[in-house]
Amino acid sequence: MADTQNKARTLKFDIFRYNPAEPDVAPKMQRFELAEAPYMSLYIALNELREQQDPSLQFDFSCRSAVCGSCGMMVNGRPTLACQTLTADLPETIALHPLPTFELIGDLSVDTGRWFRRMVEQVHGWIERQDAFEPTAEEERMDDATAEAIYERDRCIECGCCVAGCGVANVRPDFLGAAGLNRIARFMMDPRDQRPKPAWFEVVSDADGVFGCIGLMACDDLCPKDLPLLDVYGYLRRKALASALTPNAKDSSLS
Ligand code: SF4
Ligand code: SF4
Repeated sequence: MADTQNKARTLKFDIFRYNPAEPDVAPKMQRFELAEAPYMSLYIALNELREQQDPSLQFDFSCRSAVCGSCGMMVNGRPTLACQTLTADLPETIALHPLPTFELIGDLSVDTGRWFRRMVEQVHGWIERQDAFEPTAEEERMDDATAEAIYERDRCIECGCCVAGCGVANVRPDFLGAAGLNRIARFMMDPRDQRPKPAWFEVVSDADGVFGCIGLMACDDLCPKDLPLLDVYGYLRRKALASALTPNAKDSSLS
């Protein structure tokens, strides 16, 4: 953290303002000023601006502890979570824009929910079984390594930072992005999922899937939860190849 906690600064916020419900009012950047407080996060600063200077300022938040994924925004051009960002780590002038790729609700608020729902439906992001549900059956056991690998991918908070920072997702609306590919990997390694390999191959192996990724790993740099996105790509590419070579073999291994 930069050593600015004890220096009184007046922060200058240049904030994107636009309300799609008022299309005749042109988008603009609006300057706000705020006295910095010790250990101030962007989340706190934005709430002060809204409470003290402009109640019409739109942005999202819920948990303020990097769990809900609501407060993703572009901070000086970089997608990140407002609640996790201390103003002390930023210069005196801070530019805030909404995350690109997602539908704009207004100002800094975007609809990530619609994007994630579409993605989940596209990849069938749930356990698929081919046998009938047996309510009295004993729970299936899973070894620790598999459970941990699944948990690691389940830590995604759907904040959208990886998608907003992805050059491919910005120009291809159906590209699954790191969040989507991570979701596929999570179910692909789950032994309870009974999808045959060709079904996975269908979802993963085209230009909207793992082969659309240009591999510069902005997503891996930007993920606020440090998900192992680099590993996800390696895993999916290996699985795609195995699916093509041995399409009928059952495989939910971790490698
Ligand atoms: S590696 Fe690059 S192209 Fe691939 S999903 Fe991540 S940000 Fe997008
Ligand atoms: S993978 Fe990381 S950056 Fe992407 S949506 Fe999930 S938590 Fe956010």
